[in-house]
Amino acid sequence: MDIILYLLLFIQYQHKQICWLFNFICRYIPLKQWGFDDSHSPKYQKFKIDKLPKIIYYEKWDYKDYIPYLEWKYGKKIKPVSRRSECDIDDNCACPRCNAPKPYLYKNNGSKGQILCKVCSTAFSPEENRFSKSYSLKCPHCNHSLAHKKDRKHFVVHKCVNPKCPYYLHNLNKVDKKDLKEDYGKNKYKLHYIYREFQIDFFRMDLNTLP
Ligand SMILES: [Zn+2]
Ligand SMILES: [Zn+2]
Repeated sequence: MDIILYLLLFIQYQHKQICWLFNFICRYIPLKQWGFDDSHSPKYQKFKIDKLPKIIYYEKWDYKDYIPYLEWKYGKKIKPVSRRSECDIDDNCACPRCNAPKPYLYKNNGSKGQILCKVCSTAFSPEENRFSKSYSLKCPHCNHSLAHKKDRKHFVVHKCVNPKCPYYLHNLNKVDKKDLKEDYGKNKYKLHYIYREFQIDFFRMDLNTLP
């Protein structure tokens, strides 16, 4: 057979193969979905890592420093509360923010038992521990404080439980409407913003003991 004819036939055969493969790809492999839809499916949300939260540090104040500071800045010295009636605040109660003792504390509104600090104007309830940590974690999408949800062996799970969080609403929008009608259908998805606070010191980890 003529070599040219042979090569032409071979090219035609290859051309057919290519057409066939093209057809196959177009029909059965949704290329667009590979690049876009699928990776955005709410089913894979679980495998996504959320952004870091906002970390708000509380500066530790002490009333012993703060009273002279306010006097220097505003020319007014804060004096202990002058009480007209008996005070039922516990003797050991102190302001969680500036540590001011009972003489500087007064009842903010009788019914709810909230206490106000005359030095730093912090309102608190006696059993509150908002300031026991020197920082708080906030959702990067809505600024809500994150709720401490679960304690795992090596980490704590913090979650944004704000029902109006834009991150949550955006994810909720993408889920299968069928699942929303089921009782615990939403639990199939990870919809809320989550942050895992690892409590293990990775720098001190003994690598040889790892499985
Ligand atoms: Zn205070
Ligand atoms: Zn949020």
